[in-house]
Amino acid sequence: MSKEVVVIGSGLAGMSCATYLAKKNYRVRVLEKNSTYGGRLQSFSQDGFTFDAGPSWYWMPDLFDSYFNDFGKKTADFYKLTRLDPGYRIYFNENEYLDVSENLDTLKKKFDKIESGSGESLQNYLDDAGEKYRVAVEKFIYKPSLSALEFMELDLLKRLGRLNLFKPISKHIREYFKDPRLIKLLEFPSLLLGAKPSNTPALYSIMNYADLSLGTWYPNGGIRAIATGLYQNALDHNVEFLFNHPVSKIETKNDIVDHILVHDKKINCDIVVGGADYHHIENHLMDEKNRNYNDNYWDKRTMSPSSLLFYLGINKELDIPHHALFFDTDFDKHAEEIYDKPQWPKNPLFYVSCTSKTDINVAPKGSEAVFILVPVAPGLNDNENSREIIFQQIVNRLENALGTNIKDSIVFKRSYAHKEFISDFNSYKGNAYGLANTLFQTAIFKPRIKNKKLTNMYYCGQLTVPGPGMPPSLVSGKIVAKQIIKEHA
Ligand SMILES: Cc1cc2nc3c(=O)[nH]c(=O)nc-3n(C[C@H](O)[C@H](O)[C@H](O)COP(=O)(O)OP(=O)(O)OC[C@H]3O[C@@H](n4cnc5c(N)ncnc54)[C@H](O)[C@@H]3O)c2cc1C
Repeated sequence: MSKEVVVIGSGLAGMSCATYLAKKNYRVRVLEKNSTYGGRLQSFSQDGFTFDAGPSWYWMPDLFDSYFNDFGKKTADFYKLTRLDPGYRIYFNENEYLDVSENLDTLKKKFDKIESGSGESLQNYLDDAGEKYRVAVEKFIYKPSLSALEFMELDLLKRLGRLNLFKPISKHIREYFKDPRLIKLLEFPSLLLGAKPSNTPALYSIMNYADLSLGTWYPNGGIRAIATGLYQNALDHNVEFLFNHPVSKIETKNDIVDHILVHDKKINCDIVVGGADYHHIENHLMDEKNRNYNDNYWDKRTMSPSSLLFYLGINKELDIPHHALFFDTDFDKHAEEIYDKPQWPKNPLFYVSCTSKTDINVAPKGSEAVFILVPVAPGLNDNENSREIIFQQIVNRLENALGTNIKDSIVFKRSYAHKEFISDFNSYKGNAYGLANTLFQTAIFKPRIKNKKLTNMYYCGQLTVPGPGMPPSLVSGKIVAKQIIKEHA
């Protein structure tokens, strides 16, 4: 008889884990509280506009390829990819921006114009980041990180120094570049990934490699197409999905999970994987005595920023590429308002995704579908007034930078922040993408994939290893499935 596994949550991590297990003949059911799959990869359509609701940057295509290859498939069997060029635009102030070309030689020339000799520095920086990336992918990110001993491999130990675990990325970048604009450009991935560059290990220059060397891509059909690809692959392997099934309790007997409750209905299983927000799984669904971590532990974690999002339908064309970063204000101040003294930011940097520049299906002809993301502290008192103050401010800045009136052309507008992250995903403090990537929240320091007391309880997803983001979530599902196969063959 095959073992029965219940996976809680149909985000990328849950679907990934479920499919790896189903491939090994476990009988897998995914219980999802919402009416559809995909977790944070939702999309919605209204008034002729279609928006991806959450992630928008498709980076590390190799990790998506590796996922589908594990099932004898190619990414292209599920969706086609277009490499964006420019990958994105970064505004340094309302009159000055840099288009980040996908061709490295072109980009190096652009760097040289900003700071003499920095083209060569960029090559050296990316060569170093590429080596880190290879070590991370080959030796690091697929580890269950249950013990430091896993990392005691001769080859890894030899290359460990190159990873710069103890050097902040802010310092590392400044060893190559002096111009504040280039520094901003290289610090951007660590900022969006959730920590101040001064608290992020230089290891995370792998994100610069992912950005500038591996490229920024767009899946035809939008980011939601990724979730649909994983869902289809899961169905192909006989994973069963039960939507509108919010788990309300994980019941135990003699140090194992005995069954799960959904609307007072008992669901029996041999193994449980918590693929929903880790804090929610433990602190809302499990008895205190069975939890890996208490409230105090969670309170001391540095969360990555939450997000204030705006979805706008604009009834005219805008002179803006697919992705644009507005780094035209003082980031240190904004970072302080996220991490040190959490509050609604006064003058935040923000990010705009205009998918209609690449995809004609997401907006009526002559119109644009615009998504705006403002990083904000998790756990804020979320209210319409605070959202609107920020909205007015950033639209003014957008109008100045693009030299056109936008307010009068908005025909659709919706906002989204902490309240919705909590109600839609049971997300701790309304977090958008998990824990910040600091050294002491990396690998063995992350919340563990295994319950310490219950032998048949595991966790996957962005709050455990390897971390936040779509590719790490796929990897997380694989790591947990492998661990289960090892322990419950
Ligand atoms: C605004 C935003 C922008 C982002 N941008 C990017 C980006 O550009 N690129 C990138 O790579 N990543 C990005 N990310 C991060 C990425 O989306 C996430 O790291 C990843 O999707 C997390 O997947 P997950 O499976 O861990 O969690 P989730 O997607 O949260 O899935 C968990 C699932 O569990 C379900 N659930 C919760 N409670 C219960 C319950 N009690 N019972 C049953 N089901 C339950 C939820 O409904 C959800 O479907 C972004 C995230 C956000 C929010």
